[in-house]
Amino acid sequence: MQLEDINTITVLGAGNMGHGIAEVAAMAGYDVNMRDIKEEFVQNGYEQIEWSLDKLAENDRLTDEEADAAKDRVTPLVDMEEAVADTDFVIEAVPEQMGIKEDVYTDLEAVAPDDAIFATNTSSLSITDLAEFTERPERFCGMHFFNPPVRMQLVEVISGAESSEETLSVTEDLAEDFGKTAVRVHKDSPGFIVNRILVPLMNEAAWLVSNDEATIAEVDSTTKYDMGLPMGSFELGDQVGNDVSYHVLEYMNEVLGEAYEPAPLLEEKVENEELGKKTGKGFYDYEDGDGVQIPTDEGSEFVEQRLLATIANEAAKLIGGDVAPPASIDEAVQLGAGFPDGPVALVDDYGLETLHETLEDAYEETGHERYAPDDYLAERAETGGFYDDDEDASGVDFGTIRLEYPADYVGQIVLDRPHRMNTISDELLEELSTAIDHLEADDEVRAILVTGEGEQAFSAGADVQSMAGSGADPLEGQELSRLGQQTFGKLEACDLPVVAGIDGFCLGGGMELATCADLRVASDRSEFGQPEIDLGLIPGWGGTQRLKHIVGEGRAKEIIFTAERYDAETLADYGFVNEIVDNADLEDRALELATDLAGGPPIAQKFTKRAMLAGRDDTESGLEYEASAFGHLMGTDDLMEGITAFMEDEEPEFEGQ
Ligand code: NAD
Repeated sequence: MQLEDINTITVLGAGNMGHGIAEVAAMAGYDVNMRDIKEEFVQNGYEQIEWSLDKLAENDRLTDEEADAAKDRVTPLVDMEEAVADTDFVIEAVPEQMGIKEDVYTDLEAVAPDDAIFATNTSSLSITDLAEFTERPERFCGMHFFNPPVRMQLVEVISGAESSEETLSVTEDLAEDFGKTAVRVHKDSPGFIVNRILVPLMNEAAWLVSNDEATIAEVDSTTKYDMGLPMGSFELGDQVGNDVSYHVLEYMNEVLGEAYEPAPLLEEKVENEELGKKTGKGFYDYEDGDGVQIPTDEGSEFVEQRLLATIANEAAKLIGGDVAPPASIDEAVQLGAGFPDGPVALVDDYGLETLHETLEDAYEETGHERYAPDDYLAERAETGGFYDDDEDASGVDFGTIRLEYPADYVGQIVLDRPHRMNTISDELLEELSTAIDHLEADDEVRAILVTGEGEQAFSAGADVQSMAGSGADPLEGQELSRLGQQTFGKLEACDLPVVAGIDGFCLGGGMELATCADLRVASDRSEFGQPEIDLGLIPGWGGTQRLKHIVGEGRAKEIIFTAERYDAETLADYGFVNEIVDNADLEDRALELATDLAGGPPIAQKFTKRAMLAGRDDTESGLEYEASAFGHLMGTDDLMEGITAFMEDEEPEFEGQ
């Protein structure tokens, strides 16, 4: 079966996840039969879909017509036979109990077409065991959405022992066609990827408190402010629900052994029905207390090492056990749990050798299996990290940028494609991302300076030729957009202050890159602009979302809609350029500024950046929208017209197609 063969999708269960998955499938253009066991359940699910689609239309994420069309595509049903008569693909989202799932699959197998694929949204049950309730284990796999499916970008696609490659790849294609990012989980292993990292992390946090080695405040302060994770470990636990974490641990404990024994504190919370936010009380008190309160300054190195060591050990088991490679783990946890950096990159940066020793010491001291270092961790600790050297920042020989250290505590990234006006290719994006990681991990670097090689351009934008080669596939376009958004976003979110030294053209993607710096100093001769509209495109590397935070929405619209070139002085008036200098002085002054910032207080700078970013509006949904719009535009005739006219230096004639 191929993606093209899928027209009708059946979703079993219209609960929390089922209705969300049905909505996502309908928005992507599929006919969806949504089935639950009672008329009122399925109607309730349908009403939630209507509510959500209306909300998306209200926020201009969809047009009213698109929302109505998506509603029309969903048929709420109670009769199983009717629900699957013509189905091509079944997604099961019924309650997480083996017995219920067994009954559902038995009923389903009796009436479903032989060639239909079955995918389960289970969070913790074994895919292989569930497949055994059917007669098609090769056409069965896991398709694990995150809550809420409409908003969460990640889908884990999990192989059962007998899932065929065809089944897995069509399921991945379907997830991507839903506008999601699919990450393959090669083996049916408890917790898959995201929960396998998060749940032991939350458990270790609870062990530290159970054993009086740390307080909740210390652990959450460390997690949130020292490790830079989006939430404290206990804050996360309360959000997930202590019963949910506890059950996942119990299951891991049963399948994988003693290392996953739930901590006494967690057990106690479950016994007392303090399940977290949903019951009003968990580790924090949301009803009678002040809710989550995390001090910024109670972090401890000891706690950080224990938590990171736990992550490193789980990563080792996943990578060494061929469940998933480092890059998949990082992508999954970034998308599924909002980690700013992937967990593997995080532990590599910290130093695997230290973390391995942390485990050895703790194991010797306590004898608890959760500290038993995995063999693969020992192996990688010796080589320096999970990522191979040639994937690792320090080992990379950059082709499109240069990394330099022009002054104490200043790391400089030079865009080094002067022959192409430092335009930004896929390769440059990837190298830029690696370079940012590298500088951030370097204790000797406290500020980043970004400049372009030569006098012509900081960067004249995206490498249009390499973009035109991306073809008309909206998904490729979305991917290209996301790659740029994420890479520049990394610079924007990095803890170090960033100065852009701009000399010459700073256009399109180049301007979107400069937008992610904290300060911009420009030479007199510099020229700025977002010319994408003239190509029949939109700024796709964050420009529709980030520029407005600097110049205000009115000016951002002016810059994007007019596609005009702006001189440095005008953009200084608009607040985009912080300082203009004589052409000859640009380099010195930019370095001077970066050096000044490098001398500032790193923690205060870090918190300033994080707080300002955290306080922004919902940029994530804006970026989501931007990426899908960009992907859509990649397939239009107007883009071809725009690019052709651009290359031939003629006026484009757009037809709106
Ligand atoms: P839920 O309780 O909200 O919904 C389950 C729905 O299935 C209910 O409406 C129920 O009436 C219905 N149902 C019961 N028996 C059925 C049957 N025989 N046929 C059809 N429908 C039936 O649960 P949920 O949170 O949506 O979880 C569903 C699945 O998704 C579980 O396997 C869960 O582990 C998984 N999951 C949940 C989350 C989450 O955060 N809630 C995230 C990812 C995956």
